[in-house]
Amino acid sequence: MTTTDCLFCKIVAGDIPATKVHETETTLAFRDIGPKAAVHVLVIPKAHHADVAALAAADPALGGDVLAAAAAVAEAEGLLDNGFRILFNTGRYAGQEVFHVHAHVLGGEPLGPMIA
Ligand code: 5GP
Ligand code: ZN
Repeated sequence: MTTTDCLFCKIVAGDIPATKVHETETTLAFRDIGPKAAVHVLVIPKAHHADVAALAAADPALGGDVLAAAAAVAEAEGLLDNGFRILFNTGRYAGQEVFHVHAHVLGGEPLGPMIA
């Protein structure tokens, strides 16, 4: 996977539209196109890394940026009082579909034992 044929790199580049909710110098957050909860936002590093393991190995500070952005999204979406979930699907068994690392931020309703 190169950045030129990566869906989320295209969103970063502005070549594919997305409903952006938060942006920093190093991260971008936008609403999931197929929401699995009342609030479902994806938080990505602007730089391409395939999954959270690759990101943590290559640039742990950037991983921290993604976590901080996910927490900022949770606050901005009003999720802090009732709680929320952050998850990274990683690899085949987890059903990862887009191989540009993304944190799912889920909330706004009871989530059950596991979702997304
Ligand atoms: P994964 O299964 O890789 O953890 O999650 C990929 C997520 O990306 C899915 O929840 C899916 O709905 C979302 N998604 C796929 N294509 C697009 C798109 O073009 N735009 C947006 N905003 N979300 C997308
Ligand atoms: Zn990418």
